[in-house]
Amino acid sequence: MSDFQPADSFRSPRFAQPATFMRLPQTRDYAQLDVALLGIPFDGGTSYRPGPRFGPRDIRQHSSLIRPYNPSLKVSPFEVVRVADVGDVDVNPVNIEDTYGRVERAVGDILAANVIPVCVGGDHSLSLPILRAVAAQHGPVGMVHIDSHQDMWEEYFGNKYFHGTPFRRAIEEKLLDTRRVVQIGIRGPVYAETDFDFGRKHGVRTITAEQVAHEGLAWVKEQILTLRRGPVYVSFDIDGVDPAFAPGTGTPEVGGLTSREALELVRALVGVQLVGADVVEVSPPYDHAGITSMLAANILFEMLSVIAATRLQTQETKPHKGKA
Ligand code: MN
Ligand code: MN
Repeated sequence: MSDFQPADSFRSPRFAQPATFMRLPQTRDYAQLDVALLGIPFDGGTSYRPGPRFGPRDIRQHSSLIRPYNPSLKVSPFEVVRVADVGDVDVNPVNIEDTYGRVERAVGDILAANVIPVCVGGDHSLSLPILRAVAAQHGPVGMVHIDSHQDMWEEYFGNKYFHGTPFRRAIEEKLLDTRRVVQIGIRGPVYAETDFDFGRKHGVRTITAEQVAHEGLAWVKEQILTLRRGPVYVSFDIDGVDPAFAPGTGTPEVGGLTSREALELVRALVGVQLVGADVVEVSPPYDHAGITSMLAANILFEMLSVIAATRLQTQETKPHKGKA
């Protein structure tokens, strides 16, 4: 077993010690890792309720309760992959383009060490610089995007970069293989039917929240599994989940996924070659009793479990670097 284990809760109570993610060790020595948990506390791209800058800290706080074995996927992720909390990107709170540069460099450093970045936002504008780094390493990637919004608008108040545009920019910049992009949970009022034109024109598959309800999770999982061939990025906007389960977010839309559906959708990614992930748009100031942060922390745990379960499945255990 590697050194990268959560603190043992039989020796140190779960509410004790500084709150790294799941109380994992903190390091920036990427050579020792398979997966890096990276916080990005930036919300300069929000358009309505702010607050996701406080997401990484609050999600870490609420991750302390999570126990290390995943009985749904039958995997102990930390026995399979070496995961550490690598801290936060020091963003520029008043400059989105400067922040983009900082994020792209931080994620690029992680990828260059052959480590999978699992990012904790922060608002959804951050997926663009993450994808820039991911595509620089892997070429255009497939994507599973869980969200109530497509985030493919053209601009906002004359600005190309905010949390409603990252995937339009990503497609324009050819960071995504649009034949292998699925959006799940899309719903809610928009400005006009033409808002959907960009995604349609580029062949992006969009599964609405109503389709999830009517066609069922098994059908949605089949759609996800069509992405198996080639690298895939996962972007999870917490507002894909219904505000009844995730009220702590900036632009809530009613009629969304349940928290159980959200967890099952992430688990459906076992067998997919994940090259990066994010969980974004958690806004602790609008949360109640930590339920949104708790869900986000568990979604991150499921992502780590999926990476581990996939690695077990494919038997591609990376040789240990640095440490014996
Ligand atoms: Mn959204
Ligand atoms: Mn979004």
